[in-house]
Order: sequence, then C-alpha cells, then structure tokens
Amino acid sequence: MIDFSFTENQLAVRDMAREVASKLIIPSIAEFDRSQKLNPELLPAMAEANLLGFCIPEAYGGLGMDYISLGLASEEMEYGDTSARVILSVHVGLFSLPVLTFANEEQKQKYLTPAAKGEKISTFGLTEPAAGSDVVGLQTTAVKDGDNYILNGEKMWISLADVADQFLIFAWTDLEKKKNRDHSGISCFIVERGFEGISTGSIHGKLGVRAGNTGFISMQDVKVPKENLVHKEGSGFKIAMFCLDQGRYTVAAGSCGLIKACRDACVKYSKERKTFGSFIEEHQLVKQMIANMEAGYEYSTYLWLKAGWLKNQSLRSTKATSLAKWIACKEAEAAAANAVQVHGAYGFSDEYPVERFYRNSKGASIYEGTREIHTLMQADYVLGHREDKQLELDLPKVDQ
Ligand SMILES: Cc1cc2nc3c(=O)[nH]c(=O)nc-3n(C[C@H](O)[C@H](O)[C@H](O)COP(=O)(O)OP(=O)(O)OC[C@H]3O[C@@H](n4cnc5c(N)ncnc54)[C@H](O)[C@@H]3O)c2cc1C
Repeated sequence: MIDFSFTENQLAVRDMAREVASKLIIPSIAEFDRSQKLNPELLPAMAEANLLGFCIPEAYGGLGMDYISLGLASEEMEYGDTSARVILSVHVGLFSLPVLTFANEEQKQKYLTPAAKGEKISTFGLTEPAAGSDVVGLQTTAVKDGDNYILNGEKMWISLADVADQFLIFAWTDLEKKKNRDHSGISCFIVERGFEGISTGSIHGKLGVRAGNTGFISMQDVKVPKENLVHKEGSGFKIAMFCLDQGRYTVAAGSCGLIKACRDACVKYSKERKTFGSFIEEHQLVKQMIANMEAGYEYSTYLWLKAGWLKNQSLRSTKATSLAKWIACKEAEAAAANAVQVHGAYGFSDEYPVERFYRNSKGASIYEGTREIHTLMQADYVLGHREDKQLELDLPKVDQ
C-alpha cells in the first residue's frame, strides 16, 4: 500500500517549523546573512517550538515524532534559510538520534534529554583539517589513562562549533589500527564544552550558510571520563556512518525547501517583471526554468519520503538516503542557479533572496558526503560492491 497523506501530528510539526521560518527567520535573514552571524533568538525559538527534540521519545524529553516529521520540519526550516536547517541536521540528525541509538541509559539521561529539551545545543565533530571524505585519515587520538581517555586533535568545519554545549567526537583509540588505516580502531565520545583543554572558534568568509555558525574544535590533552565512550571501543566508524545516514536525510529534505524557495521567488518575480511588452512568465524559456524547479522538487521529495519510510520501519536506509541527498542537492543547485537567471541582473544583487539561495545551495554538495562520494556509493550498490545490511544494534523505534 502506498499512502502519500500526512498525519495530523506530522502536519502540526510542519506548521510549527513553517511559523518559526516565516515569523523569525525570513524577515531578518538578509541582515544576519550579511553580518555572518547566527540570529541569537533562533535557537531559543526552536527550543520553545519543540523543534530541537520532537522526534526523540518522550522518555528523553522529546515528543516521540517520526522521521517524516523530521523531513517536513527540515524542508520548512530550509525554506527560511539553509543555516536554520543545518541546526536540525547537526543537533538532531548527527547528535541526538545516534545518541538515542548507541548510548547507554546513563548517557541518554545526561546528554540526550537536555538536547531534546533544547537546554544543551549539540553537534558532531568528524571532519579535520586534513580529513573529510577520507574519514580514516582523521588524526585525533584518545589514549586510555586510568578512568579517562586523553583526547588530542583538531576538528574543522564543524557546524555550531562555537555555540554547542556538547560534541560527538571521533578519535583513534587503537594507534596500531590507525597506522594500518583499519577503521575498527576509531571510537566515539561525548565531549562537553566545559572539559579542560577544549577551545573553539568560528570560520568567517564562507560562501554560504553565513547566518549559521561553522568553526573548529581544538582539543589539547582533554580528559574525557571513560563513561563518555559511546557504545564500545572500535565502534566509532559505524556510529559515524549511522550519524551521516540521519544527517543526510535532513539535508535531502531541506534541499527541497530550498528548491521551493527558488520556485516561489521566481513565480513572484516573473509576474512583476516585463520584457518585450509582456510579463516574463509568458516567455517559454522562463517557464522551462520554473517547470524544472517543480520537477526537481517533486522527485526529490519522493526520494526523501522513501528514505523516511524505511527509517520509520527501522530498516537500513543508507542507499535510499544517499540517493535522496545526492539528487536533492543537485536539484537545489540547479534551481538556485536558474533562480538567479530568472531575476536577471537583480538576481545578481542581494536586493533579492536568490543570490543567497545560490550561495547556500553549494554547501550541500560538499557536506555530509560530497557529490562525488554519493555518486560512487550509488555505483557501488549497483555494481554489487556494497549492500545495506541491517545494523546489529537496535535502531530507534519511533511512534507514528
Ligand atoms: C558549511 C559546512 C558545514 C559542515 N559541518 C560539518 C559538521 O558539522 N561536522 C563535520 O564533521 N563536518 C562538517 N563539514 C565538513 C564536511 O563534511 C566535509 O567538508 C566533507 O566531508 C568533504 O570533505 P573535505 O572538505 O575535506 O573535502 P575532500 O574530502 O578533501 O574532497 C575534495 C574533493 O575531492 C573529491 N574526492 C575526495 N575523495 C574522492 C574519491 N575517492 N573519489 C572521487 N572524488 C573524491 C571530493 O568529492 C571533493 O570534490 C561541514 C562543511 C561545510 C562546508
């Protein structure tokens, strides 16, 4: 049975995200984008609207909503601005859902509950100055010392680095395996901002996502209690891949919000601008650009819905999520480039929002697996070099 309808609860989450986007993000986004600052009211407003924990079970301070709700909220937030959807991606997709899946009860009470309630902002630190796509190239180490691990290393390009209270950090615990690039030597830790030896900073001068915080985390002899090891030594790579499965899903659905924002801006402008005696909406080549945006939006939506459906059944969805992310980002980039085109010279200035859409659209083909990495993944599935096996661990059970 195929059912394309949404439940009342799913629509309620969508409407809540839509309200935050329309009342808080859209009216002031040009100003925050220009000043390259995160709106200080955004995180409190998202927390107030339960947007930081709605798909976490009630037992841990959330609302127990499902993955389709997460997709709908991601789309609405990115309709407002990509930087707002990035908050959902890192706080919920890359931190809370993996902690729900892999952490023990004590860790969930200590770190997941405040995250779901929006009391502690959370993020994910995998990338390093010399290792992005090549995860096994990371250099951070975690050396056991009595009841602690001592962490040393540098994480780079981390969303909310300068804002978050707690970080999911990936580091080598087996230095022999590090030498052999054997990913079963990587482990995952929950690290608190307050631990001695942690410092963070922001990156300025980014092409896009300027209204969001992106930065670095530096760790110098940081003493992390052994209780903060997530799952067990050596499962860090598996956890990181699970994190990306959830984060990529929010990027895919979010990109649909960006395509819709491009489409709506073009519909409006094409009814206002006249050339050769008629509104530009009458010109067939302009219609074609708008039609392509609509097509891109529709089929990208079906792809994330399929991935969300698999996730709701606790079925492995790596292939479906990767495909949804790859295609939606590609379509968002194309839609944003055409949105500038439809606006002519005005699209080239920040008088209209489409130049921001254009700049923001680029990042999603780089983070959470570059365009090339997803292309290779899809080819490898088809060629029989990869397959989605069920994870040995229980996946989160979500209420529909
Ligand atoms: C705005 C933003 C936010 C981010 N947020 C986070 C975050 O919160 N946490 C986090 O951990 N990281 C984050 N990142 C980092 C991001 O995930 C990495 O940038 C990404 O994984 C790519 O890594 P890289 O930049 O090192 O590029 P590289 O891996 O160095 O790749 C460079 C180029 O080579 C290509 N390439 C690499 N390997 C291959 C291959 N085998 N075959 C073909 N082509 C290849 C790539 O596709 C790319 O075109 C963020 C990045 C940005 C821009």
